[in-house]
Amino acid sequence: MKIGVIGGGLGGLSAALSLAASEHQVTIFEAESEFGGKAGNLEAAGYRFDTGPSLLTLPHVFDRLFNLTGVSREDYFSILPLDPITNYWFSDGTRYKSRPVPYFTDSLVDVFDVAKEEAERYLRYSRKIYDLTHEIFLESSLQQGKTFVSQAALRAYPQILSIDPLRSMHRANRDFFRDPRVVQFLDRFATYNGSNPYRAPATLNNIIWVEHGLGGWAVLGGIYQIVKAMLRRARELGIHLVSSCKIIDIRTDSHRRVRGLVDCQNTVHDFDAVVSDVDVSTLYHTILKNDLHKEYRRYQSLPSSSSGVVFFWGVNRDFPDLGLHNIFFSENYELEFQQIHSEGILPHDPTIYVNITSKVNPEDAPQGSENWFVLVNAPPHGTQNWNSEVNELRTRVLRKLSKTLGTTLSPHIEYESVLSPQDIMERTGSWRGALYGISSNSLSSAFMRHGNVSKQYRGLYLTGGSVHPGGGMPLVVLSGMIAAQQLLRRES
Ligand SMILES: Cc1cc2nc3c(=O)[nH]c(=O)nc-3n(C[C@H](O)[C@H](O)[C@H](O)COP(=O)(O)OP(=O)(O)OC[C@H]3O[C@@H](n4cnc5c(N)ncnc54)[C@H](O)[C@@H]3O)c2cc1C
Repeated sequence: MKIGVIGGGLGGLSAALSLAASEHQVTIFEAESEFGGKAGNLEAAGYRFDTGPSLLTLPHVFDRLFNLTGVSREDYFSILPLDPITNYWFSDGTRYKSRPVPYFTDSLVDVFDVAKEEAERYLRYSRKIYDLTHEIFLESSLQQGKTFVSQAALRAYPQILSIDPLRSMHRANRDFFRDPRVVQFLDRFATYNGSNPYRAPATLNNIIWVEHGLGGWAVLGGIYQIVKAMLRRARELGIHLVSSCKIIDIRTDSHRRVRGLVDCQNTVHDFDAVVSDVDVSTLYHTILKNDLHKEYRRYQSLPSSSSGVVFFWGVNRDFPDLGLHNIFFSENYELEFQQIHSEGILPHDPTIYVNITSKVNPEDAPQGSENWFVLVNAPPHGTQNWNSEVNELRTRVLRKLSKTLGTTLSPHIEYESVLSPQDIMERTGSWRGALYGISSNSLSSAFMRHGNVSKQYRGLYLTGGSVHPGGGMPLVVLSGMIAAQQLLRRES
């Protein structure tokens, strides 16, 4: 079969590799000059930055993808297990370093008002949710009946309440722990898919097991090495890689059967099937030009996940107290999420995430300097004037970091660039610049996501963070594998 893939983000690359492994002829069209989408790369003034994801979890998903193509992931990029995983600063001055299992529970007991049995009980709870859900909700298509009668599903049904779908993450965390700092630490994991812990179902508390039980990882050379590795494997498999080529239309016949793609030069490329890695709302709106499609209208009624403002700072000194991942918490977490998710404004007192890859990859910054990726969660793009809002945010971020670190930071910033929600939208086609598609703020979110098979356009398959199983690197790679699997099953 000849298969066209629209978009060369991690989702498109994953689908393309999976399809080429079955010896189909695959072409990827990427609108930008570089592949990778949100997982981009920025090099300037002697510094290198990853422009999107920074923490790798569930690396076995990448192992599985590379194995599927007949090679070993280790031969393409290397990963390093993290211990500690993240350095936390709380607004009351508490400092905490999160550690993986088997040190996780002791790390909590050492710093917080937590008994060892309480921490262990929580870890068992989080693990159980993951064990009961991952095969069904992350690794399988929800558009095939066999998922719901699989062994994993039959095992899960009688224990459905163990996945804790009826409380919010925050409510569950508060029920487990009396120390508000532990609750804030655990609530933070809602941001891993752009959600609000005060609304998102406690089922998402499985992410604590994912990061601390299964581990958090650094990629040697930076996250962009993953994109480079996937591109290398794509070339080896003979995938045709076309960059700087925006797809503007999908050709269908009178039976709504996909026949090919039209690029921005109006050249028509014939294909037997198409996989889209474009955000699903953007796909319907700008490529299929079908705003009346019920799926498009349904997506418009669903809240987007959060976006982000990122400052890329080249800092001309080192900060030995900081690690690869650093979090500076806000004082009032509930207010922060309310401002982002309900009021659509940047938080007045933001939680700040600082990622410094030069701690692991010294070549990412000049000697004695550090490359700071500073992320603040933000509402998706709407009517905001980002220029002025980002300027004000910058002042708040600098004030908070300078105060916490006991030094005036601004004179040390020798390189700077910024990414706003609008930039993310314009550069990747992500609807409203959302980082993870629709939010997971409701119980039904998993079932609300668009499936990997188009019901209306025959021969059209979907991958990426806006469709099943959701956003974040491992899930997006799984979405590419599921889309490819469905395509091969239905088109062969
Ligand atoms: C600031 C930030 C921080 C993040 N942090 C993390 C993290 O720590 N951990 C984690 O796991 N995830 C994180 N994520 C999320 C993660 O990056 C995404 O879930 C994932 O990279 C999305 O991949 P994708 O393939 O779905 O979409 P994208 O990466 O958006 O790829 C879509 C591609 O399609 C292309 N395209 C769009 N329209 C067209 C067209 N018409 N024709 C041709 N090409 C087109 C775009 O240019 C783009 O390259 C973060 C994201 C951001 C932005």
